[in-house]
Amino acid sequence: MNISKLIFFPIQADKSINYELLLKTLIDSKFINDDKQHVNQYLPGDNFLSLITFLGCSPNINLQPFEGENHCFISVIKQTSEPECLGYTQTVNPKCPVCKKRISDWKNPGWQKTGQLCHCDKCQNQTLYSELNWKHESGFARCGFEISHIYPHEAVPTDQLLNILSGFSGFEWNYCYTTN
Ligand SMILES: [Zn+2]
Repeated sequence: MNISKLIFFPIQADKSINYELLLKTLIDSKFINDDKQHVNQYLPGDNFLSLITFLGCSPNINLQPFEGENHCFISVIKQTSEPECLGYTQTVNPKCPVCKKRISDWKNPGWQKTGQLCHCDKCQNQTLYSELNWKHESGFARCGFEISHIYPHEAVPTDQLLNILSGFSGFEWNYCYTTN
């Protein structure tokens, strides 16, 4: 079964990061706990709920592991040499960055692969899939990190968290959801 996730990545798809510095930053800001549960599985830290806003009345997710139940954990994404699709939701429908309109029939075979072009049926421009406006329903990057067991639009990052990420890396960050 696929796990739904909230994924963070640099806005500019070709950027790379220093993962040691990322982990130190997330631990220092208490977004994650510094003792790993398993390889590359960090539990939410004491400030997790002040850096992520859950939009429902109460988060429907365990922040600590309970026997036989799903729980939130944070993992870093293995860095790749080229931007790759990090995931997508069932309702994904990108907008063209040139004319700003939604693109019909955007889903060509191989759209998740690096360097593929998408043709806009409204303005006829060709754009790299990684450069489309995905409205947080997908994202392309070489690196990043993800929170498991967050449903699409169930939670959003605070400005404070995005500022922490741009502060350590020197560039702006984006986020998206995936159910795939
Ligand atoms: Zn267009």
